[in-house]
Amino acid sequence: MSEIREFSTPDIPEFSIRIPDTDKPRVILIGGGFGGTQFARSLSDRDFQLVMFDRHNYHTFQPLLYQVATAGLEPDSIAAPLRQIFDDKKNFYFRMALVNRIVPEQNCVQTSIGNIRYDILVLSTGSRTNFFGNDELIKKCFPLKQVPQALDLRSQILQNLEKAVLTNDLRIQEGLLNYVVVGGGPTGVELAGSLAELKKHIFPKDYPELDLKRMSIYLMEGGGKLLGGMSEKASRHALADLKEMGVTVVLNSIVQSYDGETVFLKDGGTIRSKTLIWAAGVKGNIIPGLKEECLFRGNRIIVDSYNRTNCYENIYALGDVAAMVSEENQMGYPMLAPVAKQQGERLALNLNAKAKGKAVKPFKYNDRGNMATIGRNRAVADLPGNIFLSGFLAWAAWMLVHVLFLIGFRSKLIVMANWIWSYITYDKGTRLIIRPYVKPNNPAAEEPLPKDIASHMPGAEQTAASSAR
Ligand SMILES: Cc1cc2nc3c(=O)[nH]c(=O)nc-3n(C[C@H](O)[C@H](O)[C@H](O)COP(=O)(O)OP(=O)(O)OC[C@H]3O[C@@H](n4cnc5c(N)ncnc54)[C@H](O)[C@@H]3O)c2cc1C
Repeated sequence: MSEIREFSTPDIPEFSIRIPDTDKPRVILIGGGFGGTQFARSLSDRDFQLVMFDRHNYHTFQPLLYQVATAGLEPDSIAAPLRQIFDDKKNFYFRMALVNRIVPEQNCVQTSIGNIRYDILVLSTGSRTNFFGNDELIKKCFPLKQVPQALDLRSQILQNLEKAVLTNDLRIQEGLLNYVVVGGGPTGVELAGSLAELKKHIFPKDYPELDLKRMSIYLMEGGGKLLGGMSEKASRHALADLKEMGVTVVLNSIVQSYDGETVFLKDGGTIRSKTLIWAAGVKGNIIPGLKEECLFRGNRIIVDSYNRTNCYENIYALGDVAAMVSEENQMGYPMLAPVAKQQGERLALNLNAKAKGKAVKPFKYNDRGNMATIGRNRAVADLPGNIFLSGFLAWAAWMLVHVLFLIGFRSKLIVMANWIWSYITYDKGTRLIIRPYVKPNNPAAEEPLPKDIASHMPGAEQTAASSAR
């Protein structure tokens, strides 16, 4: 196999993308999340060359990010190195790079380390936080989509407490001790519950000088109920549990703006808080370059039941970024990890089958239910067959499912050990300010568009035409 230099940066000509040439079809996979890793696992090594790009060198287990943010787990227990996950694959190449643009006319993607041609392109780029166009919120609040964001939030929570002990000014303390979580979906509920547990079990021991009755946790939801995607019973239980835990749940309330000190509500109300956590929605994370008619409501990629885009024969999308719209399913499947994993597997098996001239099968979602945890011994689960669980049973089921889903034996073991330790001792061992949070001077956006980052990287201005193979 001869090595091809598909691109070398003008600044650093010694570096190139360095993917060997091959006579097998080259599949380029963008994204090492739930869908991407499952796809890569199931794609045949013998029939394809697989090149995976991700902006991180690790897979993130997003459902447990909130536990990193609230000092329950270390980040490395919910992140798995992508190279390690696939170290047994023969025809697999990983490149840590940001993919900036797709050039379908040339079967090429532009990345921060160069451009590369594909025979088949699979987009599994997940979702990004949806601020619904509110720029002030983007600059000042804490989103929760990535490990660094969870660490920022952890530092902020702890730094607030460290600052609060330094002042007698109750107004200043109020801002430091008030936490506002926006969005009453599973992430908002889990975060609010976890903050309430910190307030009850941890902070009184750590900060005896503070009157923690003054710490308030607000959960703001724009709609009329919590856990909108779950059953009525689940919503009612979550509301009752959170209230019992001391969380102030405010339904039918829209956060309009935030200046870093005060949260302004649409109804005119205000809350003083240095920490606004945004868990109010996500949208498809689309890489520029696809035709407008490929997109569903502008933020997900329309795919058929084989995960193929409606505009391009050789471009597929799966997971959060894909909208598999049909008569019965007019909004596409929900943005959930099991949907992404199952689509990743089905698509890989279909490509394997095609390569062998065998028949392909349409995707069918196997819905095994929906669950959310609220706190110690408190969770809700809607299971198939109209079965509803709450309390300890649902909580135990939630823990079991999450441990099973985690990638890697080491992570499973560490997470289990942490949970057992916390259960017995009521402790959360990772309340460390390792990397103090400093407000960025000029935060363009929490998750910049690929092109924003790309413009700072060597060779960003290179065009696909000039450098593709
Ligand atoms: C806080 C939180 C809690 C959640 N809790 C649950 C839950 O309890 N249960 C559940 O089922 N689902 C949950 N979800 C949703 C679930 O995580 C997603 O549905 C799932 O991750 C989707 O998988 P995916 O492969 O489509 O995308 P992701 O897992 O998001 O992976 C996308 C990957 O693409 C990479 N990427 C994106 N753009 C680029 C680019 N331009 N260049 C290079 N790489 C790129 C990213 O780095 C990432 O690794 C939660 C999500 C969040 C944020």
